[in-house]
Amino acid sequence: MGGGIGGEAGRHVREGRGKDRCGHGRAASGEDQATLAAPFEVVGPGLHTGRTCRVIVEPAPPDFGIRFRTLRQAADFTPATWRVRVPSRMSTALDLGAGGRLRTVEHLMASLASCGIDNAAVTVAGGEIPILDGSAGPWCGLIGRAGLRRQAAARHAIALLAPFEVSDAHGFVRGEPCDRCCVDVSTDRMPGFGVLRWSGAIDPETFRSAIAPSRSFGNASVLWRAALRSRLATRLLPPDLRHRLWLRSFHSQTVTGCTGPTPAEPRPECQHPISPWTLSRMTVTAPEPLLRGARPGRVAVVLGGRILGGARFPDEPVRHRVLDLLGDLALAGRPLRARIVANCPTHALTFAFVAELMARPELWRLEPAPAAPRASAA
Ligand SMILES: [Zn+2]
Repeated sequence: MGGGIGGEAGRHVREGRGKDRCGHGRAASGEDQATLAAPFEVVGPGLHTGRTCRVIVEPAPPDFGIRFRTLRQAADFTPATWRVRVPSRMSTALDLGAGGRLRTVEHLMASLASCGIDNAAVTVAGGEIPILDGSAGPWCGLIGRAGLRRQAAARHAIALLAPFEVSDAHGFVRGEPCDRCCVDVSTDRMPGFGVLRWSGAIDPETFRSAIAPSRSFGNASVLWRAALRSRLATRLLPPDLRHRLWLRSFHSQTVTGCTGPTPAEPRPECQHPISPWTLSRMTVTAPEPLLRGARPGRVAVVLGGRILGGARFPDEPVRHRVLDLLGDLALAGRPLRARIVANCPTHALTFAFVAELMARPELWRLEPAPAAPRASAA
């Protein structure tokens, strides 16, 4: 478990070299589970805690799933599922029991799931998964270089049998029966961008090239407000000046009209209520560090409807919504075979979709995965 830590924060300090390295166009056998062919390790700052965090991702046996533990936790791994998801602002967090809370798992979860990794054992120090460059690109690169090893156990997917939707005051997440995993995501919550929409089938190659490079984004004024509430600002600035600056930052957002493609409509006939158990896990009540590690280079900074330094895609913010959605859907514990239509999805709402769907076994069944994804080298 784990070698020495070295190198600068945010860089990959050790990468596994798998014998069964997967390349473009290499078709996998189709129905078997897969794990990594070799471990890899990353050290870097967390987006919210700002602390230097270390993560070791190792191969795991069939039917292990994706499990996490912390270094201070002696032996037990906790399965990364919706059952242990806990409320957290602007991230997906898991309760690892004696290991404490682990934040910002969504980009790593989306990468493992979308690259076809069923089983992996993840050990973390620092309480958060490193944010790296704000995207899932580095994770896909590490998984691709580690390689993928097939295992003698069948992969099963959660196949949706009927439309199912949950919603809140701002948006909805709906699943529809489909023979593969497709998404259709729209958002108008990005000031200055109008309506953004991305839709397509999710396979490893599409994920790697079209979704993974999209970065976490933060409005400059939101990041500025977080900075004003940081320990450093508390120490350096007198309270009245800090408060004035903080209030003024609310006037710096630019909002323009919605001009993009029409988002998909909610469908009341398949809407389901959200249970009290799930609702209680959607709202953050306890204070927690927020954006202490946010810097240009770790997030895409949005100012006045533009991404400072340029966007990786014209619709980069909605692609990142897709990335976060896939990471949260991965908490179902198995691949989903469904078309997911989402308007303004949040981490909490996607969690509600998964939790409520899993609580209704009459709406889905486990089926052998028809064709295993192909992993791609970076
Ligand atoms: Zn994200």
